[in-house]
Amino acid sequence: MNVTSMAVIAAAASLFVCNACSARDQTAGTAKVAADTIYTGGDIVTVNDAQPTAEALAVKDGKILAVGTRAELESSYKGSATVSVDLAGKTLLPGFIDPHSHYINSISVANQVNVFAPPAGPGRDIAAIVAELKKFRDERKVPKGELIMAYGYDENVMPGKVGLTRDDLDLDFPDNPVIVGHVSMHGAVLNSAAMRRYGISAATKTPPGGVILRKPGSDEPSGLLMETAFLPIISQLPHPNAEQEVAWSRAGQMLYAAAGITTAQEGATHAPDLELMQRAAAAGANVIDVVAYPFFTDFDKILAKNPVATWGKYVNRLKLGGAKITLDGSPQGKTAYFTTPYLTGGPGGEKNWRGEPGFPEEDVKAFVKKVYDLGLPLNVHANGDAAIDELLRTHEYAAAGDLSKERHVTVIHSQFVRPDQLDKFVTYKFTPSFFTLHAFYFGDTHVLQRGKEQAFFLSPMRAAIDKGLRPTNHTDFVVAPLDQMFVIWSAVNRLSRSGVVIGPDQRVTALEALKAITINAAYQYSEEASKGSLESGKLADLVILDRNPLKVQPMAIKDIKVVETIKEGKPIYSAD
Ligand SMILES: [Zn+2]
Repeated sequence: MNVTSMAVIAAAASLFVCNACSARDQTAGTAKVAADTIYTGGDIVTVNDAQPTAEALAVKDGKILAVGTRAELESSYKGSATVSVDLAGKTLLPGFIDPHSHYINSISVANQVNVFAPPAGPGRDIAAIVAELKKFRDERKVPKGELIMAYGYDENVMPGKVGLTRDDLDLDFPDNPVIVGHVSMHGAVLNSAAMRRYGISAATKTPPGGVILRKPGSDEPSGLLMETAFLPIISQLPHPNAEQEVAWSRAGQMLYAAAGITTAQEGATHAPDLELMQRAAAAGANVIDVVAYPFFTDFDKILAKNPVATWGKYVNRLKLGGAKITLDGSPQGKTAYFTTPYLTGGPGGEKNWRGEPGFPEEDVKAFVKKVYDLGLPLNVHANGDAAIDELLRTHEYAAAGDLSKERHVTVIHSQFVRPDQLDKFVTYKFTPSFFTLHAFYFGDTHVLQRGKEQAFFLSPMRAAIDKGLRPTNHTDFVVAPLDQMFVIWSAVNRLSRSGVVIGPDQRVTALEALKAITINAAYQYSEEASKGSLESGKLADLVILDRNPLKVQPMAIKDIKVVETIKEGKPIYSAD
């Protein structure tokens, strides 16, 4: 940092401290430091408790120069080249920080079929999904033999919860392999051509921790593969060629930018995907920051090429954030691991089904110890309370010397965390990254599968905040669409598809919900010094909304639109 920028920050800091005082020495009208841009004319929500609102925000060289009154900023920082932006009644906030999603999927989503259930897509029943797949094939003139992929399939919201099978797909797709990704992202339905391509047959044994649904009275797979049975297929899926990598990466990032997101997560990174991301970033593809979490299975391979000293630093807007491991599956897919049985049986009709751990506990313990010993942050996927118990045991083993040291552990989903486990999160300095969208998308399903009491405590953001935790909240894209207003809405309202409030006492305020995708998420990434709130010296990562989420009726939050997204002072997305 040079002397000039030190002085700028010092001046900005004094302006902030001196926000209400009039004795500040000013050289009338002559800006000592000219801002590139000054925003005024709308609400400015800073997410900074020390200065929650402001009239004006000045930006210079991609950073926030000052936050304060319009008179102060215009007299101190308005030069001849300063651009004045009139918000015209719109609201300026910190750019949203995505605490957990699967960025790599955004790269290919542009070339896949959206079969999300309404309102996010057309997948209301089997016929609608097949129709959408046919439309895609015909419009794009997909040649015989070429793979067709879809995302967002959810049997839980389909009539009678009757799932899609290979037979439903074979009729219209005899020659094209078709993979219809499950909304949980932990599995997919394959047609017969896809099963042939990826070597799945009656002779395929179900691996530990995996699910292969079979036709009644036979070993013949019926279509759905989940968890470890699905993982080998993921690694064989086609990747874009060199020319497509940059264009597709940019297109994927624009999905985030359109949602007001300026920092995205790649939440379970495999080695070839990281290499793709590094190549695309080096070629200038990245318009937002992307944080990658190498997955357990590929961790050693990635570490061999990317020494520990290179982690935690952005290169071409790409950073290795830490390691990722998955301890269970998804509650809606009945693969989340619980201490008590599902009330509706297992995915294949099993009795007394509690789900299963994703990997043997000895392997998990060895991996977590290695990550701790390397001093790297850890993201752990744990949904069911038995998976969270396993995490706590693992931590007590791997961190035996100092259980309460800050190790930057984030518990992705923490969906069915118990109150006693939340107390341990406090002691062990874990950050829960919740998924309150489940209240809407799967809340009714969870009430049936887990009972009202447990379902109503899903993603318990109120309890976590009251215990002093700083929870974040995510979309898990492509599990749910990238829609940060819907994320805030779900945390504030917790309304299900059928109109049930899933745990009224776990609702939070709009500001608390906003913090979960701004300042708390910045803490999760250890980037709170540069992101997550509007304060002088932080990056000018900003979003402009058409209305103020802190002022509209709670039910109207979901209707708020992103008008513009700004990364380090530069507009990267505009709604018009
Ligand atoms: Zn995920």
